[in-house]
Amino acid sequence: MPLSEFDIIARYFAQATPGREDVVLGIGDDAALIDPPAGQQLVVAIDTLVAGVHFPLETDPYDIGWKALAVNLSDLAAMGAQPAWLTLALTLEHNDDDWLAAFSRGLADLAGEYGIQLVGGDTTRGPLTVTVQVAGYLPPGQALTRKGATPGDEIWVSGTLGDAALGLRIAQGQLQADDSVKATLCRRLNRPEPRLALGIALRDVASSCIDISDGLLADLGHLCAAADCGASLHCADLPLSSAARELMSADSGLGDLPLTGGDDYELCFTAAASRHGAIQSLATQLDCPLSCIGLVEAENDIHCHDPDGQIRNISGHGYRHFNESN
Ligand code: ADP
Ligand code: MG
Repeated sequence: MPLSEFDIIARYFAQATPGREDVVLGIGDDAALIDPPAGQQLVVAIDTLVAGVHFPLETDPYDIGWKALAVNLSDLAAMGAQPAWLTLALTLEHNDDDWLAAFSRGLADLAGEYGIQLVGGDTTRGPLTVTVQVAGYLPPGQALTRKGATPGDEIWVSGTLGDAALGLRIAQGQLQADDSVKATLCRRLNRPEPRLALGIALRDVASSCIDISDGLLADLGHLCAAADCGASLHCADLPLSSAARELMSADSGLGDLPLTGGDDYELCFTAAASRHGAIQSLATQLDCPLSCIGLVEAENDIHCHDPDGQIRNISGHGYRHFNESN
């Protein structure tokens, strides 16, 4: 007997996530009822993942559930918000029990990590599409926005860059790697870890912040456009995982991926040079690598300097995107 829409909700979603005090009424009524903490601003973001566009069709449903929430939490991280609850609009081709069990576990495992509650959604039939909306809280005036960089500010990134883009090429069979490199990079593609603790810690440190979803150059381009400035980057300072380093040393054609590859969900932020030491301490305190990769410049362009001092010519999408928006 195939599951009805109501069976699906009851079995896989109604009790999937931890309960919260600010949720007066969650799944089961016509709408959810929330009692936001007094004096806090509400921060809201939404993102859709479409099968075959945002993830390969054969992706593990656990990873789809995890990633659909992770990319949204990454947007809250980039604002410096504390996540609170989410809604889920799910369009399914089939009501496949095993698929739903794995999908809901992936979503619930990440929700559990941050104590956020699934409070409602919609379930429909059609081409596989997952839309998650998240909400979080922030003290008024403390949001990290894209606007605010000034020439002379340092540019920082968390974690490592290019891993997810390499993972996608491996998953699509375009790139060969040994098992451990493959596992590391595919995990970076499928299970992004949103940098929420970092976003909150940066509230009174960063002058602007964005999460890297479309590639460093594209997303740094948004920070520069918002502040009407440019940037100079030092390619040698771009943080690379040892897995990425291994693949890139064997194939020079992959060299631009840390600048142009998407899906890393790290934070890119700017901060006054006087905060350099404080940011280094944060890295230790949060156990989160933070690398200073360049400077904000008055001139309205992004330059990437190779170790020999030459300016690197980037042919990837990210760079074109920046030029078009200027
Ligand atoms: P309505 O017809 O009033 O919009 P639905 O029958 O679509 O209500 O949904 C019933 C309840 O289940 C609502 O509380 C809704 O928010 C919740 N819901 C539906 N689909 C999902 C889902 N995929 N995840 C979480 N909650 C869901
Ligand atoms: Mg209704």
